[in-house]
Amino acid sequence: MAKLLEGKPVAEKIKEQIKQDVQSLKNKPVLASVQVGDNAGAEAYAKSQNKIALSLGIEYQFHKLPENITEKSLIEFMQKLNTDKFVNGIIVQMPLPQQIDYKRISQYISPDKDVEGMHPSNIGQIIFGKAQLIPCTPQAVMELLAQTGVDLYGKETVIVGHSEIVGKPLALLLLDKFATVTVCHIGTSKAGKLEEHVNKAEILIVAVGKVGLIKGEWIKEGAVVVDVGINRVNDKIVGDVEFEAAEKRASWITPVPGGVGPLTVTMLMRNLVTAAKLQQG
Ligand code: NDP
Repeated sequence: MAKLLEGKPVAEKIKEQIKQDVQSLKNKPVLASVQVGDNAGAEAYAKSQNKIALSLGIEYQFHKLPENITEKSLIEFMQKLNTDKFVNGIIVQMPLPQQIDYKRISQYISPDKDVEGMHPSNIGQIIFGKAQLIPCTPQAVMELLAQTGVDLYGKETVIVGHSEIVGKPLALLLLDKFATVTVCHIGTSKAGKLEEHVNKAEILIVAVGKVGLIKGEWIKEGAVVVDVGINRVNDKIVGDVEFEAAEKRASWITPVPGGVGPLTVTMLMRNLVTAAKLQQG
């Protein structure tokens, strides 16, 4: 039976470090959060970020902009935050209305305030192993893998999902640790090869958003399984991996909820402190 790879205890340890780092800064770090239009989910998420920020000694500025804002006006707003010397980090809450292209917007966030790590120059630095601001979910996955004590060197590591925010940057971080990385995606599934790849994974990370995509019997005996997926089923949150069957074969497995989730927001706060340190030289 697998051991549970829980995010909360890891997050608590990292939060203690963040609190100490905040104390050592010249000024209280400030995170500016931008929401466009009304969205109950985004608002709830922002509220929980606010609470965590306050508990760490971080100031959380919430900016709500009108639903019908043009991309040009949103960019102008971002540029104001970029030049505001009191703001150390900027996060844009999802979802955004149709007229706004997140990829374009994220390019207008100053790279040194880009606490989501999605500016092309921050993403690019991952290739050279020199990134300071790394996307939060891939960082959270790396922290969880470190907790297992399993050496990634040469390990067959399979990522399912190749999004820009999770799968692709994670592949680069794992390569940096000399894992042997395979990235699966919709093409792999359509070619009928997903099971074959999952079956050889000593380390398996799944970030798709499809309930039961990964069958428990596909998991290699002793594998470490990190399930990033979040799916709502009858008011319950479940991942992408068939948990009950998978935990009988894996050596470690993340619960959903309670695995990657609690760490992701902690990584956001850690990035904010890193950004503040960079700005204060
Ligand atoms: P995206 O929708 O951007 O990416 C999903 C990926 O899965 C894409 O690469 C897609 O390929 C691939 N995919 C879709 N269907 C299949 C399939 N049948 N077989 C293999 N691959 C497939 O989602 P995100 O990366 O943003 O998020 C993934 C999941 O992780 C979601 O459930 C999300 O809610 C969750 N998440 C959880 C976080 C946390 O803190 N725990 C944080 C971020 C995300 P293609 O694009 O080619 O179709």
